[in-house]
Amino acid sequence: MFNLVKGTHDVILSEADKYTFIEQTFVEIAQAFNYKEFRTPIIEASELFQRSVGESSDIVRKEMYTFLDKGDRSITLRPELTAGTVRSIVNNKLLALGDFPIKAYYVGPCFRYERPQQGRYRQFNQFGIECIGINSPYRDVEVVSLAYYSLKMLGFKDLKLIVNCIGDDESRNNYKEVLRKYFESHLDEMCEDCKDRFKLNVLRILDCKVEHDQEIVKQAPKISDYLSENSKNNFNKFLKSLDDLEIEYEIDDSLVRGLDYYSDVVFEIHYTSSKGLNYGALCAGGHYNKLVQEIGGPNGVEGCGVAVGIERIAAVMNDDNLFEELDESIDCYVMPMNETYQKNAIDIGTSLRLNGFKTEVCLENKSFKAMFKKAIKLNARFAVIIGENEVNNNSIVVKDLTTEIQEEIALESLTGYLDMKMNEHGDEECDDPSCSCHHHHE
Ligand code: AMP
Repeated sequence: MFNLVKGTHDVILSEADKYTFIEQTFVEIAQAFNYKEFRTPIIEASELFQRSVGESSDIVRKEMYTFLDKGDRSITLRPELTAGTVRSIVNNKLLALGDFPIKAYYVGPCFRYERPQQGRYRQFNQFGIECIGINSPYRDVEVVSLAYYSLKMLGFKDLKLIVNCIGDDESRNNYKEVLRKYFESHLDEMCEDCKDRFKLNVLRILDCKVEHDQEIVKQAPKISDYLSENSKNNFNKFLKSLDDLEIEYEIDDSLVRGLDYYSDVVFEIHYTSSKGLNYGALCAGGHYNKLVQEIGGPNGVEGCGVAVGIERIAAVMNDDNLFEELDESIDCYVMPMNETYQKNAIDIGTSLRLNGFKTEVCLENKSFKAMFKKAIKLNARFAVIIGENEVNNNSIVVKDLTTEIQEEIALESLTGYLDMKMNEHGDEECDDPSCSCHHHHE
């Protein structure tokens, strides 16, 4: 027996169906917003993340899975997908035509060597979008709203959107100067991490989760007092547009996000499940002024993105029963009377499957009784029985397991017969949830 690698988890069976459902919901909405899919490698040059996510971030300092490959290249398992997505946009010269914005969405695994806890894994899945080549705060709103509407679509109520503006470079540098002066006199009583943050990026101190340090952070100068006119105007337009869309938010001036590439608008969406459990931010994102340039693209091309944690969404949806009943039934269970007819059963099963009927074939030499038991266990609608008589008559026996009605029909009319049975009342749409027709599942 092998144990899972610490911080990883198997997503299997109905849990995997739930992940697919969540991802599909996001993908469909992204497509409705005219985003196109980007599938970039899981491994990238380590330097990509050092340059973009930033040397001062916890991710680069402590959490990356980095190794030398056999050619002595430093490789990192991506800790997030923004860097790789922007890299691919730059490398593929998608910005060369100046036809903006480029709208990318992605889905896939990320890796961070974090302490595993509720909602925190070492391998986890993100869906996300990047909108690149933008100069309007309304594009930032578009990005936030995509995440917000997708979560609504999944059934979330009472979402808590937290926003902040961390300003352009100039505002932020002025602010950092003031923060350094403020924290200098408190540093002695702060945690070791904050002492490092003070040296590397003083803004990070605002993110400290240590209770005592948070008290000190509360009294710190606020970024809102140091924003340039341009940043302030854009932030106000951003907020006004959220108001217009009736998307509620809270401004939290300690929200700085853990990745270096952000500037101006940053945001997170939180949700507390009915069990009172908070899994951390469901999604997070923001605007970036310099990331494209940092990764080798042209100057002055700005972007905005958001990343959603699939594990966290699945966890709260499980807690709050937001998943609809999954349909785990099948249409047909093909039952050969004995081993001789397995070949016929395979032929029939194949034909059913290729005609779109979800079908299992019994190839396990079961008794007639055991096969019926299995059909019930599989939640099959029809038992399709083939034996000597049927082969001789070129026919097949179909038993409807919901009505117990059994009929012998010509083999060639099998799929037509099943279609007819499944649409028995002939309605285009069936709204009756107790009805056994298959409209509900389509
Ligand atoms: P980030 O890339 O750090 O901005 O994170 C974006 C989203 O990814 C978060 O809001 C979480 O939902 C999710 N996430 C980040 N880290 C983890 C983790 N270690 N395990 C599970 N989900 C995570």
